[in-house]
Amino acid sequence: IVQGTEIEVNEVEQSYIMIKPDGVQRGLVGEIISRFEKKGFVLKGLKLFQCPKDLAQEHYKDLKEKPFFPKLIDYITSGPVVCMAWEGDGVVASARKLIGATNPLQAEPGTIRGDLAVQTGRNVVHGSDSPDNGKREIALWFKEGELCQWESVQTPWLIE
Ligand code: GDP
Ligand code: MG
Repeated sequence: IVQGTEIEVNEVEQSYIMIKPDGVQRGLVGEIISRFEKKGFVLKGLKLFQCPKDLAQEHYKDLKEKPFFPKLIDYITSGPVVCMAWEGDGVVASARKLIGATNPLQAEPGTIRGDLAVQTGRNVVHGSDSPDNGKREIALWFKEGELCQWESVQTPWLIE
């Protein structure tokens, strides 16, 4: 929307979703992507990526005082991850529900962690915890030009 000299960008909410190395190793990539696709969110970015240590540390910087932090960094950098940007109104909170509780033993059946994992230290997937962190994390994991701007033909059948 262009109003006078100020440009107001109407941004749709985005979440950074990442399949962790255990999800890739266990052959769960298709299964996990499928859950977000079927829900009706729109995929704007996707890549398989070997995460360097400094990026993992920056991504999880809020947890750097936790005793499990070194193990967490080793885990996230132990093999390739699948980085994704998913878009849609309410995608951040909804994706957290689809993913389930941090501890997979406490995650509800029907959620990704509830169905596919047993331990917090191997909980197969990451999802941003706020729209602001969604933006921050997508900017951290994707370079300029790696996201695609496209309209899904499904949108009029998902949103009235
Ligand atoms: P999330 O937002 O549900 O992923 O959970 P947090 O932001 O609290 O933690 C980030 C990630 O750190 C989790 O998904 C786990 O992979 C890991 N983590 C959190 N708590 C623990 C813990 O107590 N032990 C271990 N080994 N890993 C943990
Ligand atoms: Mg978190």
